[in-house]
Order: sequence, then C-alpha cells, then structure tokens
Amino acid sequence: MSEHVKCLIIGSGPAGYTAGIYLSRAEMNPLLIEGMQPGGQLTITNEVENFPGYPGGSSGPVIMEDIRQQALRVGTEMRTGMVTSVDFSSRPFHCIVDNEDEIVADTVIVATGANARWLGLPSEQKFRGFGVSTCATCDGNFFRNRTTVVIGGGDTALEDALYLSKLCTKVYIVHRRDQFRGTMALQKQVLATVNIEVVWDTVPVDIVGEQQGFIKKVTGLQVKNVKSGEEKTLAVDGVFEAIGVTPVSDLFKGQLDMDEQGYIITQPGTCRTSVEGVFAAGDVQDPNYRQAIIAAGTGAIAGIEAGRFLLA
Ligand code: NAP
Repeated sequence: MSEHVKCLIIGSGPAGYTAGIYLSRAEMNPLLIEGMQPGGQLTITNEVENFPGYPGGSSGPVIMEDIRQQALRVGTEMRTGMVTSVDFSSRPFHCIVDNEDEIVADTVIVATGANARWLGLPSEQKFRGFGVSTCATCDGNFFRNRTTVVIGGGDTALEDALYLSKLCTKVYIVHRRDQFRGTMALQKQVLATVNIEVVWDTVPVDIVGEQQGFIKKVTGLQVKNVKSGEEKTLAVDGVFEAIGVTPVSDLFKGQLDMDEQGYIITQPGTCRTSVEGVFAAGDVQDPNYRQAIIAAGTGAIAGIEAGRFLLA
C-alpha cells in the first residue's frame, strides 16, 4: 500500500500531538504514526505539577490523553504503527510503516522523543524485568512494602523516589555527587520524606541477586563511595535507574545532521533540520530542557513551519 500525505508526523508525545493540532487547524490533514508508546514518556510519569492548565496537577497519562483527544477532535489522523525506514534524499519523502506500508510525504515532522538510559552494570541485563527497571510508575507496584533504590539525582530520580516512598517501606537514592540536579521543590519533598535515605557521592558497581532455575530476584545493590573508595552492598529488592535519556533518532542517522549524542540538530529558533521540508520537535532535538511543555511548544513551531513550507 502506498499513500500520499502533505505532512507525516512521526511520534506521539506532546510534540507530535501538538504539531497535529496546528497542522489540522491549518487544514493540512496530517497523518500521525503513534509508535510503540503512544503518549510518550509522560505516560510513565505519575504526578505532573508543571504542565500549564492543570491547577491541581495531574497524571502524565491523563494529560497525554487530553492532548491526544484535542488533536483527534481537530482532525489529526492517527495510526498505530512504527516507522521502520525513511528516505529523505529527495522530496517528496518516502517512509515505510511496519516494514510494509509506504507513506509519501511532502513534509515530515520527527517527534520521536527520548528513551531512558541504562547504566550498563555487569549484571544489569540478567536482572532486567526481575527487579531492575527504568520505570517506577510501571513497576513500583511489585515492590509494595519492600526496599528499593533509585539511582540518579535529576527530576526523574526525585519523582521516582517520592512515588516509591508511598509504596515501599524504604527507598534509597544513590547519587554520584553531594548535590541533586533536580528541581528545588522536589529536593525539599525528598529530603522531608522519612523513608527516603540519600546515599551521596556514591556510584553503583553491580546488581546483586539470586537465581534458581528461571526464577531470578534482586537482593542488593553493590555501591562505591567515590570520595572514600569504600564499597558496600545495600540490601534492596528493586533497583530503579533514573540516569537520564537518549534521543530516539537511530532511524534518521545518515539522513539528518545530529550531535555526538544523537540529538537532531535544528536551526536556532526553528524546528528546521538539515533537510528542507523535514522538521524536528520535542526531546529528540532538545538536549537542554527536555520538558513536556517545551516539547509541546516546539511541536507547535514545527506544525506552523511545516504549514508555511507547504503553502510556499
Ligand atoms: P537528568 O536531568 O539528565 O539527570 C540524570 C541524573 O543521573 C543526574 O543526576 C546524573 O548525575 C545522574 N547520572 C547520569 N549518568 C549517570 C551514571 N552513569 N551513573 C550515575 N549517575 C548518573 O535526567 P532526568 O532526571 O531523567 O531528567 C531528564 C529531563 O527531563 C530533565 O531536563 C528534567 O528536568 C526533565 N524532567 C522533568 C520533570 C518535571 O519537570 N516534572 C520530570 C522528569 C524529568 P549528575 O547530576 O552528577 O550529572
């Protein structure tokens, strides 16, 4: 199957949906391919206090469903699927969905977001899904009345620790410095939570666990104090890694200019990429702020720019 669209939006976080809202209202009939995780990273975020329009705060999935419904209501066509290859060498652009359906697009907006990073500890792979996770809101429930550790010192680590503190008996935060990177409001909440203990200046060395046949379980996290060199094992049932994100941009390697971390480079103040007619919005092109509201804002910019490009 092959079809022609004026604008193909790849990705369904705040950037993709907002681009959809702008292009639909400009009567450009955008087609949005939602990807593996419709709604993006916010769908694995529990409490969101800083997205405007929700005076009492809200949950990530609720906010994303609201934006999605808004995009649908104004006419954005959404499809489940993965864009599996793209050819930006000439216009119109050729994109393949799920390895079979071809979409020919006059413009493309890349809004594929970012994924959680893994530490790469020796035993991490072995215990992934058996007590090692990057998603507290997805997996925290398995650790009710148990002890867990969160690794990292950014907003995600602080939010995860606060979320887990409501379920777990005790939560450690292991952070490699003596100061958090996350927002002051979250820092204050973390430091005031009695069942959260911060282990400063400390890096994880390995996951400790047991295996009996196919049954595996985490029993601890081996850590090292970077100042004293002292090593010890924290007795924990679950390990949550919150050490940042990497942009989801592999699909565009060799076609769009990127920095060394894989963030798509856009011209300052715009969402224009190195290929005319291809725009990038949201976390895939934002190494600095990585906020949902900024992703939505750049989605609006990309939508406006793609609309103007189509009219030119
Ligand atoms: P982040 O801000 O990049 O923080 C990553 C944390 O992990 C840092 O504290 C870093 O330590 C630590 N880290 C990185 N690599 C490590 C390693 N190899 N070993 C040990 N520790 C390591 O990532 P994030 O917390 O996922 O946040 C990503 C973005 O999303 C940020 O811009 C954040 O503001 C945003 N966000 C916002 C909200 C919100 O506003 N509600 C919620 C979640 C995320 P150092 O501090 O020493 O570098």
